[in-house]
Amino acid sequence: MKFSSIPGLTETKKLLIDAVRGNHTAHAQLLVGAGGALNLPLALAYATYLHCENKGEEDSCGVCPACSKNLKYIHPDTHFVFPLSNVKSDKDEERFKAEITKSWRAFLLEQPFGNLDDWTNYYGGEDKQALISREESREIIKTLSLKPFESPVKVMIIWQPELMHPSAANGILKILEEPAPHTYFILVTNAADRLLPTIISRTQIVTVPLLHDEEVEQYLVESLSIDPAKAQKITQLAEGSLNMAQRIVDSPEDNNAQRFIEWMRACYRRSYWSLVTMADDYHGLDKLSQKNLITYSMNMMRESLLVASSATQMNRARGEELKFVNDFSKVMTLDKVEKSFKLLNDASYHLERNGSAKMIFLDLSLKISKTINP
Ligand SMILES: [Zn+2]
Repeated sequence: MKFSSIPGLTETKKLLIDAVRGNHTAHAQLLVGAGGALNLPLALAYATYLHCENKGEEDSCGVCPACSKNLKYIHPDTHFVFPLSNVKSDKDEERFKAEITKSWRAFLLEQPFGNLDDWTNYYGGEDKQALISREESREIIKTLSLKPFESPVKVMIIWQPELMHPSAANGILKILEEPAPHTYFILVTNAADRLLPTIISRTQIVTVPLLHDEEVEQYLVESLSIDPAKAQKITQLAEGSLNMAQRIVDSPEDNNAQRFIEWMRACYRRSYWSLVTMADDYHGLDKLSQKNLITYSMNMMRESLLVASSATQMNRARGEELKFVNDFSKVMTLDKVEKSFKLLNDASYHLERNGSAKMIFLDLSLKISKTINP
């Protein structure tokens, strides 16, 4: 991965590059981002840059022997630690390890913006909890005791250190306390609140923000050749995450605008039979579509609030959508929007915890109907 393959994040990239060029790279860095932040791709680009034999001012050269290996994730001095679930295997350990390493490289090449779910699906870990095991931390220590093979430095990328087995975490702590010479650690987390404070305190924290809407939209149009109008709709739902944007691109198209309009009309008119039918319909959608409908509805609540507070220059809704939002904002007071927003947020929480979609949507519909018509 080169920095130029990652959209946006200009300042974060500059920060990392300047540290290398100024020779003040911290030996252990923690790239922190919310779910959907591009901190793993950034770590990959950073490792490539650290090893590059002909570093440019803004990126690695991409063609030197070190780059060509790093771009295929086969550089012998770039080491990866990542979570795995207990995959049943009748193969011997060496063969299993070789196969997982192969899968990992293929995963990074095919889904550079993938998350833990994508990785688990990729290697066939199903729904089992993925972990960084104690054995893995022994491997790390062994690897670190070796001299670099080809490069003056070694880079170790630890993806999702919050999923380390406690004894693995203790092993890593010792290493971070007494760093091996010429070794850079890049820890990559999407849940810093679940990391041991002692690990956080031994690393330099680099915050990786989510992308701006314009950057997501531009990526969709330029890199995935998505039609601009559709890209705009996807961007509204993606909330700064390319991973989410990609999922929406890959899923069958949802007509969220139409659904939301009919849904809110039924809530307003207290058409309870329609609400029951709708809850049935929503129950039949896949999980991603259910989540998207909720996210879309929350966005539309926000939009109607902007209309109500005359901040229309900030509206993202266009055309038919904006027309509905205009009408909708006439029946929605600030208080009603706030309440409905919270109801939607709660429903999203319950959906994520695998509650019955039918019950969640029906309960939500009745509560929104009551909020709109007190
Ligand atoms: Zn290079």
